[in-house]
Amino acid sequence: MKAIKAKSFFAGIHVKDMKSLACNCPTEVMPDPAVAYISLRQSLGKPAVAIVEKGQKVKEGELIAKADGAISSDVFASIAGEVTDITELDCAGCKESFIVIKGDGSGEKSYFPPLKDATADEIKARIRDCGIVGLGGAAFPTAVKIAPKTPVDTLILNGAECEPYLTCDHRLMLEHTEEIARGARYLAKALGVSRIIIGIEANKPDAIAAFEAFDDIQPVILKKQYPMGSEKHIIYVTTGRKVGIGKLPADSGVVVQNVATAYAVCQAVELGKPLYERIVTVSGGAIAQPKNLWVKDGTPVKELVEFCGGESQTPKKAICGGPMTGVALASYDMYTHKATSGILLLTKEEAAAEEPTPCLNCGKCADVCPMHLMPMNTAFYSAAGDFETAAKLGNTMSCIECGACEYICPAKRPLIQAIRKTKAAVRAAAKKGGK
Ligand code: SF4
Ligand code: SF4
Repeated sequence: MKAIKAKSFFAGIHVKDMKSLACNCPTEVMPDPAVAYISLRQSLGKPAVAIVEKGQKVKEGELIAKADGAISSDVFASIAGEVTDITELDCAGCKESFIVIKGDGSGEKSYFPPLKDATADEIKARIRDCGIVGLGGAAFPTAVKIAPKTPVDTLILNGAECEPYLTCDHRLMLEHTEEIARGARYLAKALGVSRIIIGIEANKPDAIAAFEAFDDIQPVILKKQYPMGSEKHIIYVTTGRKVGIGKLPADSGVVVQNVATAYAVCQAVELGKPLYERIVTVSGGAIAQPKNLWVKDGTPVKELVEFCGGESQTPKKAICGGPMTGVALASYDMYTHKATSGILLLTKEEAAAEEPTPCLNCGKCADVCPMHLMPMNTAFYSAAGDFETAAKLGNTMSCIECGACEYICPAKRPLIQAIRKTKAAVRAAAKKGGK
């Protein structure tokens, strides 16, 4: 189908995309780590519960931890070898539980049997059994997302990749177009819908052209506008439907899935392969050779940096994820997982990490907010410890944490930090009050 143009949305920002550093680098396969540190927290929900013991031999793809609760996900061995420890490790400043596997180099695999002519229920079960979560960053279990409580009529594949620097989805769309399309069809079958749209930002014309090859998938060219990849915005610009505050995309008849998730679904159905590896973009002005890499879960970030030639200069900032929504890394003592889309090493110029100065009351943060919120109010009252007023005046609970306000703020106010703090305080108060 010929690609059509989407409408734009009010507000948002125009950021320098910095994609040229890695978008033309074909994906390489990163060698298996000698030791994989596999986090038990690989979804939005509770950490999974280990079902292996120290000393146990495991195969690549073998289930090693069971989901704990509805929005948790199963975790699989990413390499074959021996479980040498199940322990807590310091990871980017937080204590997290890990299963440590020392590789034996055998490459022995344990997959589910491939499915042929799978029914909707078989596809849903396979997606759950393979531990597939949303690979766009949220790590929400896909099995839950494809079982909406209200009827839906449209599946949107999210190929926006609007975060600067990241090119993992772009490469996947070029290198595995067919598998993404087949994965989308399995998702559509599971959902009982026939309308499939793929939204891709205009800065990826080759990917848009690749998806014009299919009769059953409508490519939609998205304007380069941040945060175009947010679910609410991609739904609005591709279908004209609005998702109200506190509502889910399914309430507007739509389910959105990242293109990498569709690829993982294809592999789960056709090969029986659980989710334990993904493409990670290693980029930024302070890495010697930017690359896109197929990386096994649990690979030390240090090894990714070394594989890309190391630092070309001392980075001012290292980030896991994209620069707008990612997490700053204090060291490379961290390990990849299902949601690791990128590792960025930014120079001083790129990081522009100036010290915050007092708020100028310029209102720019509110002007760019795609959710029409008042982040300066959140920041002001949050700093005073009045989280209730912060949430009320800033409308903070509707924030999608896109980072546009902080990016535009001339005073470099730490707005995202204030927003997250406020949300956490409001949630804790609601839990305490039994609301
Ligand atoms: S307040 Fe939230 S939604 Fe609005 S720009 Fe800031 S991070 Fe994005
Ligand atoms: S953009 Fe920054 S300086 Fe301007 S009102 Fe918002 S928080 Fe204050």
